[in-house]
Amino acid sequence: MNEALLEKLRTQLANPGKIGIVTHKSPDGDAMGSSLGLYHLLKQFGHKIEIFTPNRYPEFLAWMPESERVVVFDEQNSAATALLNSCDTIFTLDFNAFHRAGDMEHALKNKSAFYVMVDHHQMPDTYAQITFSDTGYASTCEMIYDLAVGLGWQEYVNKDVAACLYTGIVTDTGSFRFAATKPSTHLAVAYLMQTGIDHAKIYSNIHDNFSADRLQLMGRSLQNLKVFPEKKTAYTKLSQAELDAFNYVKGDTEGLVNLALSIKGIVFAAIFIEHTDEKIIKISFRSQGDFDVNQFARAHFNGGGHINAAGGKSNVSLAETIQKFEELVLNLDI
Ligand code: 5GP
Ligand code: MN
Repeated sequence: MNEALLEKLRTQLANPGKIGIVTHKSPDGDAMGSSLGLYHLLKQFGHKIEIFTPNRYPEFLAWMPESERVVVFDEQNSAATALLNSCDTIFTLDFNAFHRAGDMEHALKNKSAFYVMVDHHQMPDTYAQITFSDTGYASTCEMIYDLAVGLGWQEYVNKDVAACLYTGIVTDTGSFRFAATKPSTHLAVAYLMQTGIDHAKIYSNIHDNFSADRLQLMGRSLQNLKVFPEKKTAYTKLSQAELDAFNYVKGDTEGLVNLALSIKGIVFAAIFIEHTDEKIIKISFRSQGDFDVNQFARAHFNGGGHINAAGGKSNVSLAETIQKFEELVLNLDI
């Protein structure tokens, strides 16, 4: 963590103020963990703090301490805008550009404040007064932990802070297996664990909290799998009708894309999910090794992310989107 930036942040937070914490649309474990973790840290210093998500977080994260105080922007638009406008300092966590905040994009663009970005995605925008951006981190939660240490606040990393940060570290590292997991990740986790968090319970809250329908939806996505062994690529898809048939709720498709990477020799995986209400196909890309899915998503599917995990979207039909993908795959040098 850059000492000059830490000093600037220390100065900004020296007196109790009105702080907003905002994370990206369709918040995941890292988005919610970093937001609530930072909240539990900062509230010990007398600030008034509001946490915002652009849309509702998945049910499997609702156990997180004080998740109920999160303001879900698209459920209370004007009241939420007023709350946002009352903030002097705004932390934007786990995203790199305002458009990643979905319905909150315009409220953020129109709001002048002291912005602090903490994020681990590539190519950050330059709206923030302080930008902590480092793609070397596996999770924003680990960055929040390092920020707390850098500010001299390690002793304020209590059990609530730790439970939130542990959640994002576990989810964004794929339970410590992704390449971005570092010795420093485990050292951070060692500190978090000794605060007394129940790590087994947290893991179970995250992973053993689904419906039978969700398991069968997973089965359907596995049946839809298509493999291109010579291109080391596999993809699957779920139509809106299939989501409906298995009573899809937000969060149900989380992680399905990773399953294709368990096939021997496959280094590039994708899942295409039809959302007719938003009129888009939501795409997730994952890779192992050098194949850069951030570049692929940016170049072809209006998205981005990290080298081994990225997302994108398409405005044409599921069949047309997949046809485009297959053509790209057949021309890949992988
Ligand atoms: P997921 O596939 O889980 O939605 O996203 C994987 C990674 O890519 C996450 O870090 C997420 O923030 C990022 N990501 C997902 N969709 C988009 C997108 O449309 N644009 C950009 N820039 N990043 C995305
Ligand atoms: Mn993240």
